[in-house]
This record gives sequence, C-alpha cells and structure tokens, in this order.
Amino acid sequence: MPNELTSEEPFQALSGSASVTAHAVHKDWLLCHSCGELQKVVALSPEHEMVCYNCDEVLHSGAVGRVRSAAALAVTALILFVASNWFPFITLYIGDQSQSTTILDGFWALMDRNQWVLASLVITTIFLFPLAEIFAFLYLLIPYTYQKHLPGQAPVLRWLVRAQSWSMLEVFMLSLVVTAVKLADMAVIKLEIGAYTFFALVGVLILTFMKLNRRRLWSWLNTNNYFAKDQNEIVYDCRICQAMVGESLVDERHACPRCNSAVYKRIPNSIQKTWALVIAAGLLYIPANILPIMTYSSLGDVDTDTIFSGVVELLAQGLWGIAGIIFVASILVPMAKLIILIYLLLSVQAGVKSGAKHRAFLLRLTELVGRWSMLDVYVVTILVALVQFGFVYTVEPEPAIIAFATVVVLTMIAAETFDPRLIWDAVNEKEFE
Ligand SMILES: [Zn+2]
Ligand SMILES: [Zn+2]
Repeated sequence: MPNELTSEEPFQALSGSASVTAHAVHKDWLLCHSCGELQKVVALSPEHEMVCYNCDEVLHSGAVGRVRSAAALAVTALILFVASNWFPFITLYIGDQSQSTTILDGFWALMDRNQWVLASLVITTIFLFPLAEIFAFLYLLIPYTYQKHLPGQAPVLRWLVRAQSWSMLEVFMLSLVVTAVKLADMAVIKLEIGAYTFFALVGVLILTFMKLNRRRLWSWLNTNNYFAKDQNEIVYDCRICQAMVGESLVDERHACPRCNSAVYKRIPNSIQKTWALVIAAGLLYIPANILPIMTYSSLGDVDTDTIFSGVVELLAQGLWGIAGIIFVASILVPMAKLIILIYLLLSVQAGVKSGAKHRAFLLRLTELVGRWSMLDVYVVTILVALVQFGFVYTVEPEPAIIAFATVVVLTMIAAETFDPRLIWDAVNEKEFE
C-alpha cells in the first residue's frame, strides 16, 4: 500500500483551545468499517459494487444513474408522499357499514387510547423520518445538479446516513398487505388511491437511495477524505462519511474533520452497552410473548390474541403465507437476533479467532432484517384504526405490543452499538482499552 501524502494542504483541527496542524488530502482509499482493513478504490465504474476483500462487507454500492435523475425522483417522492397521506388508503365494509382510514389515522387512534410511546414510534418511522428524508434528498440533490453549495448540507447528509434504517415505509407497506389478507375473510376490503400512491412512494424512495452515490456527495462537499498529522500513522474510518482519520486526531478530538461525527478507534464500552441492551430486550421478550397483543370484540364476544395464538389462528384459517410472515417477523427474527448478539458478545469476550468472517456476516444479517420485525406493530396500528364498528366488530391494542415494539427498537440499537471490528481484534491480536 503506497503511503505518501500527495498534494497535501495543511488543515487546522480544533482540539479544545489549542489547534493542531494536520494534513488533509484526497485518497482513493477506503477503510472497511466492519473489519478495519485499508483498501484502494480501483477504477470504480458507476454501477460497480465494492466489497471488502477481507470480510465481504459492501464498502460502496455505485449509483445506478445520474444524480440529476435522483433529484427528479425526490420531487416525485414529495408529491406521492402528500397524496398518500391525503387520501384514504383502505376501506373496510362490514354489512352496510364502512370505515376508511388514512395512514395517520393509526397514529390518532393510538393517541386517543393514550398509547403515547407506540404512537410516537409509529409517527416517527412512517411519517416524520420519511418526510425529513425526502426534504434532505431535495436539499442535497437539487443544489448538486446546479453545483451550488448551501449551508448545512454536511449535517443533512450525516443525518440521512444515520436515519436510513429508522424510516420504515416498506415495512409498513408489507403490514398493509398482511392486514388486507387477514381481514379478507370477514369483510370486504378495498384498497384506495392512498394505497396505490403509497406503493409508488416506497418504490420511488428505494430508487432514490439506489441512485444516491454517498461517496460522490461527500467528496462534492469536501474532496479531502484523509486527515493525518503524520503520514505513517494508523488511520480509523468515519462510519458516516468514510473519511480516514489519523490516530493522533482521533485521540485529540474524537470527531471526523470532514463531517464532524464521532470517530473512535472502537465504539466506547461497546461490549457493556450491547450486553445491557440485549439483556433488557431479552427480559421484555417474555411479556411481549406472554401478554395479549390485541383484543377483538364481536357482537359481545371478546377474544384476546398473543403473538403466538395469532399465528396459530391464521394457520387454522388456512392463511399459511401470512402466518409464515408473522411467525418469521415477530417470533423467529427477534429471538434469532438476541441469540446472534449473545453469541457475538461471548465469542468476542472469549477471544475466539476462528469463523470471524462468518460472525461478521451474522451481524450484517441482524442489522439488515431487524427493522422488519416492526411488521406486527404496524398491523395492530392499522387494525385499531380500521376495525371500529362499535358493537359489531372492534380491535383494541393490548400491553404486549409496547413490550414487543421496545424489543425491536432495543435490538436494533444493540446491533448498531456492537462494534464489528472487535470480531477481528482477536484475529489480529489487537487490544483497545
Ligand atoms: Zn472488511
Ligand atoms: Zn466523517
């Protein structure tokens, strides 16, 4: 690996009151945030995906199209967002009664029942974050098209990178389908214009993310991606903008000179924090599965469901597909996540050297599937908003849904808190205090 600083410019890094002079340059290098290996970015074609030679982590997935088309997509997304929140998305007919609901009705239905925690989780993940995401796209992509820099673009891009996994429109979309199939045998379901614009919105947002070339945007904001005082020092990666930050700078300011997010050699107290989150999630997993998740009342009959009895009931009705989806998302995935995280923590603490690549894969899998467990939370939310036919048929949320939503959130944070580089430290016999 060539290790010289070319065309360097001095850079003032503020460290408390004293300032440090370091070198800031651009290098076609990348540090794998999963295993910490430094590698050269070789002739990256726009649609190329770059994978770490050591651990198979995707380091960079290229933009499929031009940024200009991503800007057009973001404008489309905004229009679709307004439409899908304005129009009702589903109507339910029972006998001669009917009930239509918009996406936000689920939130209001929870607020009416004083379910503040659940209501705020729902509004954040299906309304506030997606909307902020669209505005962030517009604020970055339209000026980029005209090569104009605007103030605050770096914090906006930083937020966009961080918030991505907490915007869950595609999970909500699957919940909508699950709800519709679930109700199909007891009532007539009609998807409305809001549902179709919503499906289009999910597709457009996925495309926008695919076309958003993070690496190109960061280097447009600041071409320099290598900051060091001494050309031979070890560099650490910024998880947000992929800059490489020299050891002495990491020690002094713990922040990335390019995007100002925190940079550590290893996430501080990663093991302890992950254990605490895993134990809390494990404890809540019990009430989440034992307590009822919702109550149906129909013509004076009251029937409560736990997550598991809900799955069994769907099987009894012959709805194998939906039963399978709910079983995987609500029972299997949360449990598998807890087991994987405990396995990773124990193996790191025991200093296990073998199977590091396999363990790194398990962590990636955990991060990838975690958010899909929100499915049941949204199904209950939609049912509560939709199925309100007084004496004839009503659905109410029960305590397990809060415990369950907390399990999902805690395990998602736990997977983010676990530092994947710890897996490789045992292999490389490194120690960080
Ligand atoms: Zn790697
Ligand atoms: Zn950074």
